[in-house]
Amino acid sequence: MKGSRHAEPPGRIHMTNEHPHARGGKFLEGQTALVTGASRGIGRAVARRLAAAGACTYLNYLKNEASAEETLSMITGAEGSGMLLRFDVADFGAAQEAVQQIIRERGTLDILVNNAGITLDGIFVRMGPDDWNTVIDTNLKGALNCTRAALRCMMKQRRGRIVNISSIVAETGNPGQAVYAATKAGLLGLTKSLAREFASRNILINAVAPGFIETDMTAAIPEAPRADVKKMIPLERLGTPDDVAGAVAFLVSKDADYITGQVIHVNGGLYM
Ligand code: NAP
Repeated sequence: MKGSRHAEPPGRIHMTNEHPHARGGKFLEGQTALVTGASRGIGRAVARRLAAAGACTYLNYLKNEASAEETLSMITGAEGSGMLLRFDVADFGAAQEAVQQIIRERGTLDILVNNAGITLDGIFVRMGPDDWNTVIDTNLKGALNCTRAALRCMMKQRRGRIVNISSIVAETGNPGQAVYAATKAGLLGLTKSLAREFASRNILINAVAPGFIETDMTAAIPEAPRADVKKMIPLERLGTPDDVAGAVAFLVSKDADYITGQVIHVNGGLYM
């Protein structure tokens, strides 16, 4: 039977392709996570996934309290544990205070997912500093602010996981998204530099780069260009927030103990 595809008796063959994490194993039991921008979209799906895996998950948001409450109800309704934590990631002091609050309440911060982000698309020459400062402040400085706060705690613990949500456009570029793409490419430089800087402290830092994911951010894109993008995706569908959450959950799991400074693309094959 050596080399045979039937080396095991049929009764012992693992019949499912489902990953154990998808079955709700509590592989993050006892850990504390902070997900920025967790009121909607990808952040909500990530927060739900981490909470389902047993992490006490802090849900950051900026304005949309009702939606953040809804994420929290979804988590508690599934017997997960979570807390709302409203602050503007672009505000350095607020980010430090928020992380301090987590440490006071939980004594630890094990996982940070820098997900909060905004787009402000337009022809570059029609944009001015006020426009691009908003995008840079949220997408890039927001990650710097939260990472700096989290690292202080993770360094003491000599343990931590950080996942930065970048974008496919960081690598491909996109007309009309120069500033947004610059912030997302900046996150990749940040990820790789910090991964090298903090590897010796057992702090693993990776990025996930989603393609076209159906959320509020992409809802305004008209049907025709949506259909055009769909045609270019080898897997022939747009992505869901859960598709991204799966990659994040993997990166914060024990299965990713030897992975740092990497970018996982979740894009249905749109960019390889
Ligand atoms: P979304 O549905 O628009 O949600 C954005 C989230 O970020 C909301 O929870 C929002 O909070 C929060 N937020 C915005 N500014 C904030 C700030 N200054 N401080 C704290 N929270 C803030 O976006 P999404 O599509 O889920 O995108 C999530 C991340 O994935 C973003 O970084 C985005 O760039 C990236 N991404 C998305 C796609 C896609 O196709 N959707 C593709 C590639 C990358 P409120 O609800 O309170 O406003």
